[in-house]
Amino acid sequence: MHTVVLGNGIVALSTAFRLVQRWTAQSTDTLTIVGRFARPGSATLAAAAMFNSFAEIEAGSLDHPLDLYRFELSHLATQMWPDFERALIAAAGAALPAGCQGCQGFNCGGCITSGTYVVNNNAADDLDDENFDAIVQALRDFNEPHSLVSPRDIPNYAPEQRQRATRAVYIPGEGWANPRLMLEKLDAILRRDARVRFQDASVDRLEASASGAAIAAAVLADGTRVEGDWFLLATGASATDVLARSQLGLPVQRIFYGVGVSLELDSPEHPHTHCIRTPNRGLACGVYSVPYYTVPPVPRGSRILVGASNFTSPTPVHHGRVGSVEALLKASMEQINRNFYRAGLVRVNVGWRPTSQDTYPLLGRTSLPNLLVATGTKRDGFHLAPVISQYMAALLHGEAVDERFASFAPERAPLRLLTREQAVEKAVRHQLSAAYQHGFSPAKSRMPEQVAQMLRDQVERLHDEVGAIDWGIPPEMLDMYRYGHARA
Ligand SMILES: Cc1cc2nc3c(=O)[nH]c(=O)nc-3n(C[C@H](O)[C@H](O)[C@H](O)COP(=O)(O)OP(=O)(O)OC[C@H]3O[C@@H](n4cnc5c(N)ncnc54)[C@H](O)[C@@H]3O)c2cc1C
Repeated sequence: MHTVVLGNGIVALSTAFRLVQRWTAQSTDTLTIVGRFARPGSATLAAAAMFNSFAEIEAGSLDHPLDLYRFELSHLATQMWPDFERALIAAAGAALPAGCQGCQGFNCGGCITSGTYVVNNNAADDLDDENFDAIVQALRDFNEPHSLVSPRDIPNYAPEQRQRATRAVYIPGEGWANPRLMLEKLDAILRRDARVRFQDASVDRLEASASGAAIAAAVLADGTRVEGDWFLLATGASATDVLARSQLGLPVQRIFYGVGVSLELDSPEHPHTHCIRTPNRGLACGVYSVPYYTVPPVPRGSRILVGASNFTSPTPVHHGRVGSVEALLKASMEQINRNFYRAGLVRVNVGWRPTSQDTYPLLGRTSLPNLLVATGTKRDGFHLAPVISQYMAALLHGEAVDERFASFAPERAPLRLLTREQAVEKAVRHQLSAAYQHGFSPAKSRMPEQVAQMLRDQVERLHDEVGAIDWGIPPEMLDMYRYGHARA
């Protein structure tokens, strides 16, 4: 069996790893992985990459059974990471990258570790308070180890006085990994097996067989055909473009480019030991800072990843916006540690979060029996990799997985889980939160209520225009509906 994996991010490579793990020495299976080695637009390389389940909770975000299932998968992923990482280290053997060599799993000071502080500060508006309360409530409801701590006890936390937190919770089980080292490790593992071939190329399109009943080949940008028995489309945010060029007529909803910027800082005098972040706010994941372990002799903790911005685009955007970089630099100094004023700016990452029209992942088989899709993971795809890869490898072998996983079938009609009222309220709350985060300072009249009403009217009008009468537009998709890129 020859499997062709299109894409070379965390979703593609972790699935390839699971497939190779199933091979015996006698196995005649082969694998081709197609993706440019430079990984343009890679979301994985821009990620923090945090393993957050509870820290990502928002008020109301667990109300729907499908959201609860997604949370269950995310929680499961957190539990699976230690074993997954151990399996990677064992498989890498002598090919383990230098940066990973001190690491034997979690809590060892290597490239993966855990311990996250969520701070409730005054930098945005009271949406933060609601979301912080929701996080703490969920930690209690699910019996997840945590402790409410004084913000003054958070290591390397020294925000500007006016933006200091008044509350904080420590979640020992939520960690992060350096995604560059992780991809380096996966590349090294897969390259050890002569049955795995890497193609430094971009796939242009998929070609149907003569009968149209299956995929015959992936056609690369230079016209080369790569034939196979199975095809996994895991090119992240560009999946829609590949499908559009393929003209297969599959009813797969659109994936947009969730353009995100993160910054790598060098702060040897004020190193990080833990992740410090805010709750989600303003249509994005708030402000976070994560120790970014890198190759010795760079001192541990001196590299820190700060993130992240987000805007949704119908087309790829190659450069981070100056405004995003400015906002992140300012937030890192004002909300995390004012001493970052003296930190070095090592790198500006720009990645495209694969964001589906309904904002839920697209994972599973298609109506063409040898084509599977794995994308749409938005801002949790790194964390989910152990689960997604396990399920996708099982599906590629024709095995059954948890039947609820079918909710993410790539050809489903876009899910409409928000009522119109919920969506309008959420859009107003998040847009106001974003405005406060970026310096909105209203007059002391009824201005906040007036602005909220103006936003509400706009969002209601948009719902009327697109015919969203008994369903709601996800707030991050407002502009995509407004400008006709997403259709009801
Ligand atoms: C700033 C930022 C911060 C994030 N932080 C986190 C976090 O803390 N935790 C977390 O879990 N997630 C985080 N995410 C989300 C996470 O990065 C994604 O969910 C995940 O990486 C998606 O993986 P992927 O493999 O589907 O896509 P990608 O990583 O984008 O990989 C797709 C690959 O396919 C290649 N490709 C594209 N088109 C083609 C083509 N036509 N042919 C061949 N190859 C192609 C690309 O070059 C790329 O290398 C973050 C994302 C961003 C942008």
